[in-house]
Amino acid sequence: MQPTGLQESDIAKEIFQLIERLYPICRSITGDGVRQTLRILQEYIPLTIREVPSGTRVFDWAVPKEWNIKDAYIKNSKGEKLVDFQKSNLHVLNYSLPIHEKVSLDELKAHSFSLPDKPDWIPYRTSYYKENWGFCLSHKQLAELQEDEYEVLIDSTLRDGHLSYGEYFIKGERVDEILISTHVCHPSLANDNLSGIALAVFIAKHLKAASLRYSYRFVFTPGTIGSIIWLSLNEVQTIRIKHGLVLACAGDSGKINYKKSRQANAEIDRAVIQALRDSGDGFALHEFSPYGYDERQFCSPGFNLPVGCFMRTPHGEFPEYHTSADNLELVRPKFLADSLTKCLSILEILEGNRRYLNLNPKCEPQLGKRGLYGSIGGQSDGRLQEFAMLWVLNLSDGAHDLLDISEKSKVRFCLIKNAADALLANNLLREASNSVS
Ligand code: ZN
Repeated sequence: MQPTGLQESDIAKEIFQLIERLYPICRSITGDGVRQTLRILQEYIPLTIREVPSGTRVFDWAVPKEWNIKDAYIKNSKGEKLVDFQKSNLHVLNYSLPIHEKVSLDELKAHSFSLPDKPDWIPYRTSYYKENWGFCLSHKQLAELQEDEYEVLIDSTLRDGHLSYGEYFIKGERVDEILISTHVCHPSLANDNLSGIALAVFIAKHLKAASLRYSYRFVFTPGTIGSIIWLSLNEVQTIRIKHGLVLACAGDSGKINYKKSRQANAEIDRAVIQALRDSGDGFALHEFSPYGYDERQFCSPGFNLPVGCFMRTPHGEFPEYHTSADNLELVRPKFLADSLTKCLSILEILEGNRRYLNLNPKCEPQLGKRGLYGSIGGQSDGRLQEFAMLWVLNLSDGAHDLLDISEKSKVRFCLIKNAADALLANNLLREASNSVS
């Protein structure tokens, strides 16, 4: 499972290159930007693009009309272009209605968004469910606008069409699934959430070459409405989802932040905590709250799936969030690679976590005569490995899984797993019948 044989720096570069390719595209919750994005992802993993017609009922929601945009600008009376969509797609209120009119400064201001406390940055604003038009610009630029007659153009369309999302399934030994979900609706914003998209792609790329116990389902959906659609169309199959992660904001310099599932102590929650502890790096934990990314839908009470959210700095906690400063400089290849390594170590724990029964439970078995003392691991790991074996033997009573043993012993999961494998090979353990669901 670990990305051995691959230079971390090479992976880091590749993940970043994908983000660079996706960055200029104007995405939204529907439209060609999402399609173009998903088609680029198909060059990396064979995901299926699904199209859901506008108006389709999905629980309490309906699939919105499809939005597309070609161009937008604001010109002054001299014909000078002051704001140009071609320079930044954040300049347009996402989902703006088409308009081509002459407007006064007051009217233009009534349809403009800026950030007075971050005067150099363009904000990211949307109006998906309320028909409106608007522009987003730096507060500095807005403040400099003089009384004038302005020509505003938004060359967009909003009509019946489809919402597109991507899905990729990797079959493992079991029908039980691990869900990896990420949102694909933001335009030129790098950390939120091109980092999540790229991370999901590289996890999938890595897993498709691995031998897997679980099956894996990757969903690349527009935020909120996309996961609602997916859950609505796949309600029956959700019973197979045993663990899940939503990926977001995974490329900045912050430490890992993990938001637990609504179940709070699900195996995914325990696996993430163990993997982060084992990494030796700092991290922060958050209890579930019904605010955030698509874990809100997966963890709604009617589903209550064991799905947590893996992030570096959480949304809203980095100043660049939802502004033009969430750009290619905010995400760094080494942090993307670090997020990938940590996600793979979480999945490695889930893949390896089982319950065993000690076949020699009356007093300790004699490890020396089986060559199990100092037999595995490096010299310095030798004692720790013996310690791990004693823990595994003692707690392999069918009630504790390897994660429990790792938690209780404070020994890294990989050492506990190695110890269990060695004991298994020496017929001192067998898998408990309740080991897998
Ligand atoms: Zn966002």
